[in-house]
Amino acid sequence: MIYPWQQEQWRKMMQLKQAQRMPHAILLYGEEGSGKSGFAQSLSASLLCDQPTQNGEACGSCNSCHLIAAQTHPDLTYLKPVPPEKTKSKKPVLNIRIDEIRKLCNKLTTSSQYEGYRVAIIENADKMLVQAANALLKTLEEPGAQTLLILVSSRPHRLPITVRSRCQSLRFPMPSEKVALAWLQAQGLKSPEIALKYAHGAPLIALNQHEETMEQRELLAKALLASLNGESSLAYAAKLANLPKEISLGWLLDWVNDLVKLKNTELNSPVINEKNRPQLQKLAQKSDLKRVFAYHDLVISYIRKETIALNLQLIWENLLISWDSL
Ligand SMILES: [Zn+2]
Repeated sequence: MIYPWQQEQWRKMMQLKQAQRMPHAILLYGEEGSGKSGFAQSLSASLLCDQPTQNGEACGSCNSCHLIAAQTHPDLTYLKPVPPEKTKSKKPVLNIRIDEIRKLCNKLTTSSQYEGYRVAIIENADKMLVQAANALLKTLEEPGAQTLLILVSSRPHRLPITVRSRCQSLRFPMPSEKVALAWLQAQGLKSPEIALKYAHGAPLIALNQHEETMEQRELLAKALLASLNGESSLAYAAKLANLPKEISLGWLLDWVNDLVKLKNTELNSPVINEKNRPQLQKLAQKSDLKRVFAYHDLVISYIRKETIALNLQLIWENLLISWDSL
């Protein structure tokens, strides 16, 4: 995916490709969340695609593109930092090891499977251990024909100068706030300003965090709709208790407010959980308005209480039982 703020870098690469002056190694660097990895993938797909589009992007439908999508293209290697072997640590330090780099270099010296480019992407290249970086040097000095190594890094100063000096560098600055907001809006993000602020201006982090919360919202929806499906909502209490209380109880309040709306006003009035309108309507039909109001007050009281004094799992169990008998 070429993001709107990467057009200049893309044009530059495509000009080199057309002039057959593509470098053998490039370093894509810039702050975390500016979309370097996406660019690396687009660039490798563009080189491997059998029939790229007019602006050089991969077609998405040829044999090579299918192999890339299935992550089985024999001429594309993807390396990223991994935990050390046989580690017992829960949060191990991730590194790119020398054996991985050696394997990669061997692969790049054998000929291409499709008589075209051979491409390797090294994600977080600054996580290469010293020996790994040294092992890469030879390939960087004498790469085979039609070989492209793409190093991606948010901390390029941590790469050995010997590696950096053998790569053509391409910088990826953050987009302006205006460009980032327009893009986030186009992705369907409901409050892009807030999301972008939380992400310190990095549009991809803003979007990913939003996607994470989408999953959590989905979890709450499943719990609240379990009884309609004849399932037990209590099974969700432990998972819901793991979410930040201010956020999850705020979402629960959205559901309660939706219920009140559907009971009090016309059936097609807008609700927050629009996606679940049919189920909400069923819940509204079977619930008692007085109990719904009492439940609303209960949720508010939990939101106001200090977290420290609360057993969140017990609270969620209580909230789910009460919800099922509204
Ligand atoms: Zn293609």
